[in-house]
Amino acid sequence: MRISDVLKLIKERKERNEKFLAAQKKKKENTPKKENDEGQDDETPRCKGLTQNGEQCKRLALEGSEFCALHQPKGDK
Ligand SMILES: [Zn+2]
Repeated sequence: MRISDVLKLIKERKERNEKFLAAQKKKKENTPKKENDEGQDDETPRCKGLTQNGEQCKRLALEGSEFCALHQPKGDK
């Protein structure tokens, strides 16, 4: 393999990498922020229990239950 071929390969790889990074960055910019707690997926079942503040518990409900492990009604089983 000649050195010019190697250099070409390296250049191509670099360009591809830069293109990939640019696409990633663009994707990130176009994606609206939804990392706040309030905007969680509605599909995710939330615990219906209340915290000590009187707010809805932010934990996820256990499968087959409306409450998380903390707020699990006692004497269920
Ligand atoms: Zn809970």
